[in-house]
This record gives sequence, C-alpha cells and structure tokens, in this order.
Amino acid sequence: MSHKENVSIVGLGQMGAALARAYIKAGHRVTVWNRSPGKAEPFHGQANVAATPEQACSESDLTIISLSNYEASDQVFRAPLVAEAAKGRTLVQLTSGTPGDARSGAAWASGLGIDYLDGCILAYPSYIGGEQTPVFYSGPKDLYERHQSTLRVLGGATSHVGEPIGAAAALDCALLESYYGATLSFLHGAAICASEKIPLDAFFEKFQAILPLISITADMSKNMLSTGDFKGTDCTLDIHTNAIEHIVRLSHENNLDRRIPELVLSYFKRALQLGHGGDEIAAVFKAIQD
Ligand code: NAP
Repeated sequence: MSHKENVSIVGLGQMGAALARAYIKAGHRVTVWNRSPGKAEPFHGQANVAATPEQACSESDLTIISLSNYEASDQVFRAPLVAEAAKGRTLVQLTSGTPGDARSGAAWASGLGIDYLDGCILAYPSYIGGEQTPVFYSGPKDLYERHQSTLRVLGGATSHVGEPIGAAAALDCALLESYYGATLSFLHGAAICASEKIPLDAFFEKFQAILPLISITADMSKNMLSTGDFKGTDCTLDIHTNAIEHIVRLSHENNLDRRIPELVLSYFKRALQLGHGGDEIAAVFKAIQD
C-alpha cells in the first residue's frame, strides 16, 4: 500500500471545504481548522478537527491554506505560535493573490525554514478532484515533486509552472482577467438580447458558437504577438471597429450601459491611430502596451 501524506487544511470556506473533502475521499488523514467553528462541524468524525491553526500545522507535514486573501493568511500564519508550528514543514498557499503576495509569503517562509509552494486553482469547488481540473503551482520544483502525488488529488491537470514563486499567481491573474472580461461581455450581450426581446435561451445556445472563434483568435494572437507581425487576410481592425461602433450605438438606442463596448472601442480606436487599421485584431495589443 502506498503511503498517503497527512494533510492539514486551514480555511473551510467553499473552496477549503472542497479540498478537505477531496483528501478525505482519497483516504488521507486530514486535519482541518476554520476560524468560525461552525464550518468545521460537518468534518467531525471524518477528519481531525483542530482547535487552533498551530495545532492544525503540527498534525501534518503538509498544510494547505485556503483563506479569503493574503491579509487573512498573514493574520493567521504570522502569529508566532503558528509560524513556530509550521517550521520544518511544507505550506502550500492556495489563497489567491498577486505575484508580489506570493514573493512576500515565500520570503517570510524561507526566513523561518518553512518550505513553501504557491498555487492557483482554476476551477469552482465542485470540480475539485476532477480529471481535468487545473491547479498550477510555482516554487521549488523538487518540493513540488516531493508532494506531487498528494497535490494531484485536487485535480488531474495539476502542473508546476515555474520556479519563480510568483509564476502561478501571474498566470492565474492573466487567465482570470480573460474569464472576468469575457463574463462581463457576455452578460452585456444577454442584456442586448433582453432589450430586443430575443429569448435568452437562444442567446446562450448561440453563445457556444462563438467560443471557438475566441480560441482561434487566441492562437492567432500568440503567433502575432511573438513575431510582432499583425498582417493577415481574415478581418481588418477597421472592419472590427465598425462592428464595435454598432454595439455602442445599439446600447445607446436601447438605453443600456455602454461602458463595456465604449472601453473596447477606445482601445480599437487607439490601435487605428497607431496605424494598425489594416492589421488583424491582435494588433490591439499595441494599444494596450501604448
Ligand atoms: P469563502 O467561502 O469566502 O471562505 C473564506 C475563508 O477564509 C473562510 O474559511 C473564512 O473563515 C476565512 N477567513 C477570512 N478571513 C479570515 C481571517 N482574518 N482569519 C481567519 N480566517 C479567515 O472563500 P472561498 O471561495 O473558499 O475562497 C478561498 C480562496 O480560494 C480564495 O483565495 C479564493 O480566491 C480561492 N479560490 C476560490 C474559488 C471558488 O470558486 N470559490 C476558485 C479558485 C480559487 P470564516 O468561516 O471564519 O469566515
């Protein structure tokens, strides 16, 4: 029988509780702690419920942190008793933050002899433990490899994305920006349909049809951003700009919020000013960098 590491989970919010459930299901000895004891109640009988975060840290060589933000994490872990309990062990920070937060956490841990990985989960809690669930880690590769089989319990698409400790958070922020931007835009699209009495079912069904176009554009952008050559034969920025102007006008005519299409239009117009009217859409990157 292969050895399964003991795992402690600090933070039993929606995500932390899902992480704890995944380890319990996978047969690990799990210790949990949450600031408000109510969230730990469902774990009695399935996990060791610690009375304090220092007790949680001292029960396992590997502690996973899942708190609202780094401020909360610092409040818990920089307390002397908790820091002392974490010494000589591994902390895996799954609280979302910036690359700078990750660097600050790693510097603190290194000063105390604590091994430290920073990770990001690109999924909702109900997908934890799934074959395709992506979780990124950055930090020392050998440390990641030492715990890889334990970390893989949380998602089949677990990967190490770089030794620089901020790499996972940087990728997370970049991908989440794409997610939030796209979400805001499709919700605005839904508002357009509602204002024209187009059934929302029809919109969401057709929305699936545009997803491959986003993927094709991302692939095209990858090549163009790396070569700096935005010439192509698909659609000029002049034509794309016309399309966005229609969306701004429609939003105005139907009394909808125009901030999203107007913001998009401002970037496209700037790219036109920079001389990219005949180039492909990826040339808007130049307006972002401007
Ligand atoms: P959540 O349900 O709001 O839980 C927040 C947790 O942080 C709770 O356990 C809360 O404890 C604890 N907490 C907050 N401030 C604290 C403090 N000062 N001291 C001690 N504990 C404190 O949030 P979540 O959805 O689980 O998210 C946790 C982390 O996972 C976040 O960094 C989030 O960005 C990341 N994440 C979440 C998702 C998602 O879909 N939910 C996806 C990817 C990543 P109390 O119960 O005592 O308030």
